[in-house]
Amino acid sequence: RIVLGIESSCDETGVGLVRLTPDGAVELLADAVASSVEEHARFGGVVPEIASRAHLEAMAPTMRRALTDSGLSLSDVDAIAVTAGPGLAGALMVGVASAKAYASALGVPLYGVNHLAGHVAVDTLEHGPLPSRCLALLVSGGHTQLLLVEGIAEKITEIGSTIDDAAGEAYDKVARVLDLPYPGGPPIDKQAKQGDPAAIAFPRGLTGPRDPAFDFSFSGLKTAVARWVETEQRAGRDIPVPDVCASFQEAVADVLTAKAVRAAHEFDVDTLVISGGVAANSRLSALAAQRCADAGITLRVPRPRLCTDNGAMIAALGAHVLASGAQPSPLNMPANPGLPVETIVAG
Ligand code: ATP
Ligand code: MG
Ligand code: FE
Repeated sequence: RIVLGIESSCDETGVGLVRLTPDGAVELLADAVASSVEEHARFGGVVPEIASRAHLEAMAPTMRRALTDSGLSLSDVDAIAVTAGPGLAGALMVGVASAKAYASALGVPLYGVNHLAGHVAVDTLEHGPLPSRCLALLVSGGHTQLLLVEGIAEKITEIGSTIDDAAGEAYDKVARVLDLPYPGGPPIDKQAKQGDPAAIAFPRGLTGPRDPAFDFSFSGLKTAVARWVETEQRAGRDIPVPDVCASFQEAVADVLTAKAVRAAHEFDVDTLVISGGVAANSRLSALAAQRCADAGITLRVPRPRLCTDNGAMIAALGAHVLASGAQPSPLNMPANPGLPVETIVAG
């Protein structure tokens, strides 16, 4: 069976196609993505109105590209999955309205699915089925969460999340302080390779003995970087950008991986999936690989292209939901900007 997935929760318009095989495996057939990230760059963050309009313009061409890439036609599609939330209200609405139109025109079931679960589900396209229990660290521009996944279409429980900024948001804000371009992750990652991660001791948020074990905080780290840079500038010293980047990046990777490994022990799981745009970070994946190997945990990180927002992740989740025999969503299903992570399929 063929599942088409539509993603429009933030600034990427994605249409993906996957095949669900009789044994429940999923295969990637197409993954077309159009991003409006450059239109947001001069504002230093995603502008919701611009994102919504860009989705409207990109939806039909992205759909055509996915079909062309896969060699399939719409009549081959057996089910439509779409991001029902969480995300930007206006942006979500474009994908949801499109998905409803395709589902009713084709007479196939519609599944409004959870974007966050999609970030985890996408890994099955790369590394095969997930074990019955695993831990997921979701790190992106809008989210930073530790999730206990007991069946990707069955049960997801949040065991920790950021209490302020998301990890990607911290990258974007630190990049701004250092006059690096938006989005900040790639340029900071690049600069950090030339720097010393031990040059500056930036704080590790929420790692004290009385702090919540699995929650994160990155706003204090961002402020510490800004203060450090300001102090140096006032003293008339040049900013050692590579050292600042490497030290900041080390603080983020250290906290994320330490908490993820601790959670794996606490919840007795032996597999960790890391996904979301920040999973593309070279230091995060290297440190995670090292710490997971030391702890006997299997680490799964999808390739960078699948870590950022795309339609294939929604198609993959839709395929697992279809295989689970879940009820389709009603055709009047609303977009839900605040859809909780526990709700895998929206009613
Ligand atoms: P959502 O939370 O809804 O998924 P999003 O669209 O912001 O939102 P992604 O597209 O998954 O999420 O990720 C974008 C984020 O990833 C940006 O904050 C960007 O700076 C960060 N990022 C991308 N590449 C890297 C990298 N190499 N290192 C660190 N961060 C990175
Ligand atoms: Mg994005
Ligand atoms: Fe996302």
